Amino acid sequence: MPERRTVATHCPYCALQCGTRLTRERGVVSVRPDDFPVNRGGLCRKGWTAAELLEVPDRLRRPMLRRGDELVPVGWDTALDTIADEIERIRAEHGADAVAVFGGGGLTNEKAYLLGKFARLALGTSQIDYNGRFCMSSAAAAGTAAFGIDRGLPFPVTDLSGANAVLLAGANPAETMPPLMQHLTGDLIVIDPRRTPTAERAALHLQPAPGTDLALALGLLHIAVVDGVADRDYIAERTTGFEQAWQRAVAWWPERVERVTGVPVRDQHAAVRMLAAAERAYVLTGRGAEQHGDGTDTAAGFINLALALGLPGRPGGGYGCLTGQGNGQGGREHGQKADQLPGYRRIDDPAARAHIARVWGVAPDELPGPGRSAYELLDALGTENGPRALLVFGSNPVVSAPRSAHITQRLSCVDLLVVADFVPSETARMADVVLPVTQWAEEDGTLTNLEGRVLRRRRLQDPPEHVRSDLRVLHDLAVRLGEPGHRYPTTPRAVFDELREASAGGHADYSGISYARLDSGEAVHWPCPGEGHSGTPRLFLDGFAHPDGRARFAAVEPRDAACDTEFPLTATTGRLLAQYQSGAQTRRVPALTEVAGEVFVEIHPDTAARAGLADGMSARISSARGSAVARVRLVPTMRPDVVFLPFHFPGAGRANLLTGDALDPRSRMPEFKASAVRVEPEVAG
Ligand code: SF4
Repeated sequence: MPERRTVATHCPYCALQCGTRLTRERGVVSVRPDDFPVNRGGLCRKGWTAAELLEVPDRLRRPMLRRGDELVPVGWDTALDTIADEIERIRAEHGADAVAVFGGGGLTNEKAYLLGKFARLALGTSQIDYNGRFCMSSAAAAGTAAFGIDRGLPFPVTDLSGANAVLLAGANPAETMPPLMQHLTGDLIVIDPRRTPTAERAALHLQPAPGTDLALALGLLHIAVVDGVADRDYIAERTTGFEQAWQRAVAWWPERVERVTGVPVRDQHAAVRMLAAAERAYVLTGRGAEQHGDGTDTAAGFINLALALGLPGRPGGGYGCLTGQGNGQGGREHGQKADQLPGYRRIDDPAARAHIARVWGVAPDELPGPGRSAYELLDALGTENGPRALLVFGSNPVVSAPRSAHITQRLSCVDLLVVADFVPSETARMADVVLPVTQWAEEDGTLTNLEGRVLRRRRLQDPPEHVRSDLRVLHDLAVRLGEPGHRYPTTPRAVFDELREASAGGHADYSGISYARLDSGEAVHWPCPGEGHSGTPRLFLDGFAHPDGRARFAAVEPRDAACDTEFPLTATTGRLLAQYQSGAQTRRVPALTEVAGEVFVEIHPDTAARAGLADGMSARISSARGSAVARVRLVPTMRPDVVFLPFHFPGAGRANLLTGDALDPRSRMPEFKASAVRVEPEVAG
């Protein structure tokens, strides 16, 4: 290695994928922000401290095998032979679907693609899904239904800079992706049960009860129509289904919406006025609106509002979803989802199966069908007809999955739990075999950010001696399972070239995108159906992706709210600036844990006083699923009926000990954002 080396790459964390310059000089790695369009020289605290990930003291450096209660270091051959032998045994006894795979939205495009291929061909299993199911699957389902294609933002982030008004429903970018805020220079309308840092900067903050976002979306649509600011020409020319959607919204007049959501009538009117008066306006959703048992309908409710105002598919307007994980967009396009094949194709589409089978050199009927969704897969582990083995790549479901105590118990029931990661996450600590794999600055690859732009991740340095890339792991395992090695390339470039071919003709068409183009500095957004194609930064300008070119309104309405006297409060979960997802990475960075090192519960002072709680006390928060313990933070801006916990922390403070197993019927998104709870002082002892 030369004494000083610098690469242009991207932050290892969230979906904004800020551009960075990474320099290694005399063994020390430093991060500098790049003047990249999404971050324009900005980085958040996580990005600035990302180099510390490369030096975490408990970095996994050797494969580990469980011997009794302990994980002991072994060689790669021993680890991989053990996995392969156990998979063969389980498959022989219980069939191919007894082996399952759980992926992650932080995996590069190449890893996500090869993982899906490995599952379907080498394992022959239908049982593969990933943690993105817990992230933006509701917005994806709603976006696909409305527009024919789902891409987080169907326009570049920089388009937001010219907006006069932006409605943020359940999104808190001032904490989750701070550099995005520099683009939000117009009036912000924030919908959030909490007075978040983003809400603090808003021109208007609507503070609904958790789980009532859809009622509010219907109410805003109601006002837009009744007040005559809906764009009738746009609705007639570019959409279908308005009347059916209106028939639902007509029953959501402002006073009723105020009763259900708590948002004052005057604020509902003000929000619609601001959006309608803006020359350029956007409606954006985040996890707060999407992570519900009716998340797809809720996202559809906000899409309906955007359509009624004539925003999507117009220059200077639109609807988008702020995706969360680093490769939240690309991670859902290349085949690690239970119901999809590469190119963002449906796995039950005969033409899609024929295309992928041809690229993979197998017969279409050799490809398994759709499998269980993420929660259902985890819930089935170790049951009579469920998987007996689970291979986890880049995910930490012990902390991030809902109903955590139950899922942890299910993980303990399998015959074989394999975890590939670079740190000993809570899930890795339960594993029978742990495989140490490369992390961001040690590998090449591509990711696709929230605006559908394909980005190069570049290798700065070699991994530690016994650490291997996930691609090599998949190759070596596939060969042990009897697959021809050439089917599983081990270089990112070779995998990407195959991915291009597999994606050709699909919604997310990468066929015209090459490493050479990306390395030349070209900005390429999918779809890019040929080398001569310049990519598609803005979708839908000439029509939506349905055969008739029109967007679809959705006829949606809220669920009945259950009232529970035993659990009179609602707990909502969310993210902090200094932590990322399950915290497996960021909890190992001292500069981040100094400011956000332990779980807390935000609670209104009056609510706390009624429960006998004071600031700094330890509180037990209990739901029908279980209870979590967290330190009390009194927050006067909280709604008195709501408490908030960040979900990044393990152990007794896991927020997901409270969440349940209600799933959105279409996206299979669990309900993360509204759990009925009670709070009380935690009695030590
Ligand atoms: Fe990294 Fe996201 Fe922070 Fe940018 S906003 S530095 S991508 S964590």
